[in-house]
Amino acid sequence: MTPLEILGDVFGHAAFRPLQGEIVDHVVGGGDAFVLMPTGGGKSVCYQVPALAREGTAIVVSPLVALMKDQVDALLRHGVRAAAYNSSLDGDEARSVLTRLHRGELDLLYVAPERLVSESFVARFDDVQLALIAIDEAHCVSQWGHDFRPEYSQLGQLGKRFPGVPRIALTATADPHTRADILTQLDMEDAVFFVGGFDRPNITYRVQEKRRPNDQLLSFLEKYEGESGIVYCLSRKRTESVAELLLGAGIAADAYHAGLPTAQRRQVQEDFLSDEVRVVCATVAFGMGIDKPNVRFVVHHDMPKSIESYYQETGRAGRDGLPSEALLLHGAQDVALVHRLIDGGDDPKQIRLEQQKLRLMSGYANGATCRHQALVSYFGEEHPGNCGHCDICLDPRETVDATEAAQMVLSCVFRVDQRFGLQHVLDVLMGSMSKKVVERGHDKISTHGIGVGYGREWLGRVAQHLIHAGTLEQDLAQYSVLKLTAAAGPVLRGEESVEVAALSKAPTETRRRSSSRRKSRDAREILAEVDGVEGVDPADVAGSQVALFEELRALRREISQREGIPAYRVFNDRTLRAMCQRLPSRTEDLLDVPGVGEKTADLYGDAFLEVLREHG
Ligand code: ADP
Ligand code: ZN
Repeated sequence: MTPLEILGDVFGHAAFRPLQGEIVDHVVGGGDAFVLMPTGGGKSVCYQVPALAREGTAIVVSPLVALMKDQVDALLRHGVRAAAYNSSLDGDEARSVLTRLHRGELDLLYVAPERLVSESFVARFDDVQLALIAIDEAHCVSQWGHDFRPEYSQLGQLGKRFPGVPRIALTATADPHTRADILTQLDMEDAVFFVGGFDRPNITYRVQEKRRPNDQLLSFLEKYEGESGIVYCLSRKRTESVAELLLGAGIAADAYHAGLPTAQRRQVQEDFLSDEVRVVCATVAFGMGIDKPNVRFVVHHDMPKSIESYYQETGRAGRDGLPSEALLLHGAQDVALVHRLIDGGDDPKQIRLEQQKLRLMSGYANGATCRHQALVSYFGEEHPGNCGHCDICLDPRETVDATEAAQMVLSCVFRVDQRFGLQHVLDVLMGSMSKKVVERGHDKISTHGIGVGYGREWLGRVAQHLIHAGTLEQDLAQYSVLKLTAAAGPVLRGEESVEVAALSKAPTETRRRSSSRRKSRDAREILAEVDGVEGVDPADVAGSQVALFEELRALRREISQREGIPAYRVFNDRTLRAMCQRLPSRTEDLLDVPGVGEKTADLYGDAFLEVLREHG
């Protein structure tokens, strides 16, 4: 049977989803694949179809007994010969599975990772024909991931142990660093990458400041009468108190957490699946492997620990593709509490990592960038923003031109050699004389203290925006140091403006003018320097025009300094380049250059024409 026939005849799907077809072909052809697809994206098909299309038995490594059971049950219903081998089997059952494996009677065998640590167990596969090896929830292999499983680290051996058997690693949750780490750990650097659409356009993401959470929750739920949803809470106690609150309001709710007896937990799951219980108030343990398509909303009553978990948990809404909503109630106290919980850990490296992840999460919550854009850019995917279904895009806040503050942040990142994190950069901008600042000599650099007029909170907000918009990147693998991306150049050169949603107490135009005027002149000088460092991209300006371009730019700098306005308000770089090409000599010609308006021509035209005529 062809893969497409298998998909139809066995699984009852008419067509592959876009990425599935490519992945299946690749693996059936014997290639290794790394599949990054969000929950509900259809990862199982990617290895189950090749498992049937290829000769022999597919080994599937899966971390949770419950997940395995669901998968095996589903496969058996489709008439596929599947079995699981894990600690839930008694001796007889385990022997019977192995017998079937050796007789070639299994298409898929799900195995717990700890089994594969034992060489004597792995040796059983030596005289079995293997169709492929699938590693599900592959992020468990990485210490950077949120679910590290030491047993997974053995899986890197499988490639050498079974050469020629294609391997496919699958995960829903991996930021770019974790992704690279997974490939190294699994020794799969040559695998072909398949990154599926992380955007979930049917989910409307909202963040609210947590004021009176009970009222906020109840008023949110009013919109969803009769619909199913999940409310995630930080503690067991809170799942219970929130469930009580909802019951009191006449909503069929129940609590779910790891402290409940297994039977009770199973009951809650079943009641939720059968719509007996409408809202489950749960800790993060809830939802793994539950395939309920019509979850209409997910509320985070408390702050999630990382963007990965937030994405995964909110992703349980709207699997049927219908409009759904994710609400995050976010409060500074929760963040402090989670920080303390993390601090209670005993592995310093882990503590540091988790704190960085929490900071990113808190940055997201405080952020003013399109939520869809911020989320998918975290996973390394691009998004144009302006999604039309997140709180930022739906209720646009008043925005403030933050170009100058953004330039300060970017220059400072550059000045500290792109080797320090956000807090240090803010310390320097605010003129701190802390030991760390002084020891590194950062009290001597030109950006020291230039941000005082803006205040730390605003600069922090602007920096977060730059991170979410992809102008700065935070290197998670390296203490979250901030680095400039290619997008930083235009902002630094004043070619592009930066708009940031106002804080309720954003610095007003006048307040910041009075206090930061002198300082910001310093910033402009730095910019001139940074500008010099970057130079002109020779691809953009023909060789003979470089000198002219530089002259025009010097003139622009002079005007912008004299008038105290950003350079891009005079003319942007694109306009200057066009001037170099067209060499206008009269005002009418100048007006034909893209980016030149009546007003700017009137104000600055003569000065620019003078320079241009000299080169004409
Ligand atoms: P994941 O493992 O990525 O979370 P699953 O493999 O469980 O996702 O698939 C999610 C849902 O999508 C399942 O209900 C599955 O039946 C459905 N599905 C997967 N592939 C297809 C397809 N090609 N056509 C229709 N439905 C599909
Ligand atoms: Zn948006």
